[in-house]
Amino acid sequence: MVHNASAVSAEGEMKWKFSPFTNGISRQKSMTFRYIKQEEDIIMTESEGELFDLFGLKPEDVLQKRLEDIFPKEMAAFKRKVYERALNGESLTYEAELNGIPFLAAIGPIYKDGIVTEVYGFCVDLSERIQMERQLAESEQRFRSLMDHNIDALFSVDLEGKFTTVNKACTEMTGYSETELLNMTFLPIIIPERKSIALEQFQDALKGNSKIIETRITRKTGEIRQITFTITPIIVLNKVLGVFGIAKDVTEKREAEKELRETKELLESVIYHSSDAISVVHFSDYSVKVNPAFEFIYGWSQDELNNLTSHMLPIVPEDKIAESERLTNIVKHGGYVKGIETIRVNKNGKRLNVSLSLSPIYGENGDVVALSAISRDITDKKLKENALKESEEKYRIIAENTTDLIGVVDLEGNVKYASPSNRLLLGFDPSLYDGKKIQAFFHSDDRPKVRMAINEMIKTMKPVKFEVRCKHAHGHWVTLEANATPIVNLLDKSGSFVVVARDLTERKKTEEMLRKSDKLSVLGQLAAGVAHEIRNPLTSIRGFLQLLQSKASENEDYYQIMLSEIDRINSIVGEFMLLAKPQAMNFMKTDLKQLLKHVISILETQAILTNVQIYFECDPDLPEIWCVDNQIKQVFVNMLKNAIEAMPAGGSVHIHLKKQENYVIASFIDHGCGIPEERLATLGEPFYTTKEKGTGLGLMICYKIVENHHGKIKIESKIDDGSTFSIMLPIHKNKPVSE
Ligand code: ADP
Ligand code: MG
Repeated sequence: MVHNASAVSAEGEMKWKFSPFTNGISRQKSMTFRYIKQEEDIIMTESEGELFDLFGLKPEDVLQKRLEDIFPKEMAAFKRKVYERALNGESLTYEAELNGIPFLAAIGPIYKDGIVTEVYGFCVDLSERIQMERQLAESEQRFRSLMDHNIDALFSVDLEGKFTTVNKACTEMTGYSETELLNMTFLPIIIPERKSIALEQFQDALKGNSKIIETRITRKTGEIRQITFTITPIIVLNKVLGVFGIAKDVTEKREAEKELRETKELLESVIYHSSDAISVVHFSDYSVKVNPAFEFIYGWSQDELNNLTSHMLPIVPEDKIAESERLTNIVKHGGYVKGIETIRVNKNGKRLNVSLSLSPIYGENGDVVALSAISRDITDKKLKENALKESEEKYRIIAENTTDLIGVVDLEGNVKYASPSNRLLLGFDPSLYDGKKIQAFFHSDDRPKVRMAINEMIKTMKPVKFEVRCKHAHGHWVTLEANATPIVNLLDKSGSFVVVARDLTERKKTEEMLRKSDKLSVLGQLAAGVAHEIRNPLTSIRGFLQLLQSKASENEDYYQIMLSEIDRINSIVGEFMLLAKPQAMNFMKTDLKQLLKHVISILETQAILTNVQIYFECDPDLPEIWCVDNQIKQVFVNMLKNAIEAMPAGGSVHIHLKKQENYVIASFIDHGCGIPEERLATLGEPFYTTKEKGTGLGLMICYKIVENHHGKIKIESKIDDGSTFSIMLPIHKNKPVSE
């Protein structure tokens, strides 16, 4: 309360006001005075005291003078009012100011014979007290603003734990308003499980112990916060009135600390459990820290490394010291070294291939204070790498040099690798596969079959075998026998497989030939038996015919023909026997032109009957060849006969006889019914005939004969267009050694 205006107060309050004066009365200047009332005037009759001089009053100016003469107009009017009341019997006090000096005055009536005759007064200087009050107010204000603007929550509670003061931070921390807080105790704020401890601590503080406490509170919103606070008892005149506290919200700090602690633990655990060797060397004192993996890999224990005299660890071999110095320098300047491959030695002197990474560790002022090194033993990896390289090399050599086709194909059909033998088997460079799918190279009829095989392989993860026709660069189809083996590679999810393929065309041919010759030999044995049975009767027929001829005078020609035909039967039968077991054949130099002319003459009658024209062309300087002429004649007869029989409605047969390189080729070209493609391969098998009276043996015998002459038969035929049979006979091959 500041008394800066003139106010009249009650008597009770006067006592309270006076109490401080009693203590410091010696310093307080005072003054007494008396007034009387004369007529209408109030006149000062007496005045003395230090304050009198302080007011700047002089006795001659005030004594026996009217109020209005002594004081300024306003003050005089105020005094008249107050004194009138005193003259009427009242005792009162007032505060006022004169010539800049605040004062407190007390006045009261003086009775004489029951009537108020005078007013007696006493006043004291208030300057000092007012100044003190102002200072107090100021300090109170300063305290208040200090409270309010303090970032810490400041509070006081009374003996019951009820809040008596709280600052702004307090309301922010708890979420309760100032009024709410001032109407509650601290207990509801504390989380349930801490309430009893909090009470104990509060009681303890009341006993006079100041302490630092950490607890958790529930904000008005229900949110839980971690708080530390200091509580001190408030003691006035040896009596505890309550507790004063300063609280801080440390939730974030604690969380950060926890995180930091966890990170540190994690880091330490990683370093501890790492299978890589980790070392940290300090540049200032060469102190070293190494992890268990380091001890394990290099054989040096932490203890053994405790007294280094240089930053160079004993694991650096002599020949790598220069390199190590260079790398250390990089790190000292803040650089990093990542995964370089180098050599380190373990305690036993064994050299290890390691992959090494170095990084700087910074001190508080930003300097590089230590070097951390992480190394991994890659000796095994190196060995494996080398082994892998070696085996890869082996496989490469195989793949590059085999005549089989080796390829790696993914499941989409992209060719990842094809061996150079591709050129040999299919006639084109493996680069032709680039950007194309392997399927494109297959015969369209074979694609579903291959797809099925590959699906089977994917399903079972086991190798599969299939046949597939691939187009040769020259346009014909090559039959390949392929083996596909899946590559089990966990890293390559897309999957791929290795194909090893072999050209089957040659084998197919051999098989075909084997099959034919098998039939031939069975038939040959049969034929030989039959032939033998025919020969005997034929011999007697010929004998009797000769006997008849010698006795007959007519039809000499007929006898001649009959005898030559019997001879032919005989030789055919002989040839049948030939088929069965090889006999020494009588190779003679033969003029094929003459031979063919003879064949044509034999068949001419048949040709004319079916209206077929025979045209014969022959190279002018055709060499004679070594052959068994009767056999070759037989071949030519069958060829020409077949050609004529292929044209039942008539037509023309062209026969060409010419030399080509080391062969003489006799071609029989007809324009008859032709032979279906699928039959071409089986031609020459016995008993295949399309004719009513055919035997299906002709071609078989032809093959056998030509084969015995080291020759070849080539057939070209097109349905309804005609056929060309070319008999190729070598010129020199059949020459007897003696010649
Ligand atoms: P055959 O003449 O007794 O039938 P071949 O062994 O001589 O026995 O011939 C076998 C089959 O081959 C014939 O039935 C015929 O279907 C076919 N053939 C042979 N030559 C020709 C040809 N020039 N034109 C058409 N088909 C032929
Ligand atoms: Mg025939």
